[in-house]
Amino acid sequence: MSNLKHVAVVGATGAVGVEMLRCLEERGFPVGQLTLLASARSAGKTMKFKGEDVTIKELTADSFAGVDIALFSAGGGISRDFAPHAVKAGAVVVDNSSYFRQDPTVPLVVPEINAADVKTHQGIIANPNCTTAISLMALYPLHQAFGVKRIIASSYQAVSGTGAQAIEELAKQSREWASENRAWDAAKLDSKPTVYPHQIAFNAIPHVDSFLESGYTKEEMKMENEGRKIMHHPDFRASVTCVRIPVFRAHSIAISAEFEKPVDLAKAREILSNAPGLDVIDDPSNKQYPLALDIAGRDNCAVGRLRIDCALDNGLSFWIVGDQLLKGAALNAVQIAECLV
Ligand code: NAP
Repeated sequence: MSNLKHVAVVGATGAVGVEMLRCLEERGFPVGQLTLLASARSAGKTMKFKGEDVTIKELTADSFAGVDIALFSAGGGISRDFAPHAVKAGAVVVDNSSYFRQDPTVPLVVPEINAADVKTHQGIIANPNCTTAISLMALYPLHQAFGVKRIIASSYQAVSGTGAQAIEELAKQSREWASENRAWDAAKLDSKPTVYPHQIAFNAIPHVDSFLESGYTKEEMKMENEGRKIMHHPDFRASVTCVRIPVFRAHSIAISAEFEKPVDLAKAREILSNAPGLDVIDDPSNKQYPLALDIAGRDNCAVGRLRIDCALDNGLSFWIVGDQLLKGAALNAVQIAECLV
């Protein structure tokens, strides 16, 4: 590969795709040529990159001639069907979907944790699930010091995690409630939701991704399955409840973790303060803890509410917040691409 790269973004118009362009530009990624790909609906429209208009093309099997790095963010089916064409054309694929994550030949990477795994790629590198990537930003440094055995966690996930249509659904429902001058106890709207199975405005839906036989959802099991692969820790266990809440941007996760070794709170705080890509905001008496509204748009995740867990042996509880469009998707993908150059 020469110094300047021909980069393709598949799903450029999506919630993640837009952020990918921003990350490539802001981080000064060495883009020599940029190819923007989306569905036929977007073909011919333009998006700005470094002040220039770039025309979006329809994704086809022939879209990847001359491409060095292809950032995929258009859903698992598109990755399944088109990533092999990109690899055949000589590109390295960084895939945001879940399609390749458990493939043993595909590294699954959070650069702050397992950047070295990038080198083992055979054409495709997977970007982890957003809730998992954010959680591991605090859990992994703690694991290195104390040896994590298992976690019990609940997520509070933003609608932008579902994509552009879900952002619009929350905005539309909120406007509907306000414009009709409804009372607080008349929050259940007449309009039918189209993206989520239930109204998301003024609600909390304990249903992210599809349900498995076990009663967990696929999203909930990603924490254990992807956490094991990224941390190289096959015995790691995670029981998670994923909840969608009416927040536009940034996921929050409440985690209670049990470790092999006793946890010293001051030591844990010091470890997290020194962890890359992570800020500690932890001064509850002054009402300081990480908040989705503050973390939205920020590269770093933030951890707070650190306390020795009262119900687990060698346990630590904490609250972590991260912008899932960035560390959970676009930023992490661009960081992986940076490892390639
Ligand atoms: P989104 O906002 O719905 O965007 C979907 C993108 O895919 C759009 O650019 C869309 O293009 C494109 N697309 C759809 N059908 C296509 C087709 N047939 N051919 C080519 N392009 C097509 O979704 P998103 O939230 O950005 O998510 C994209 C991917 O990233 C998904 O795999 C998702 O699981 C993953 N991901 C998302 C997040 C997150 O926080 N949102 C986090 C981690 C991973 P048009 O505009 O032309 O329809």
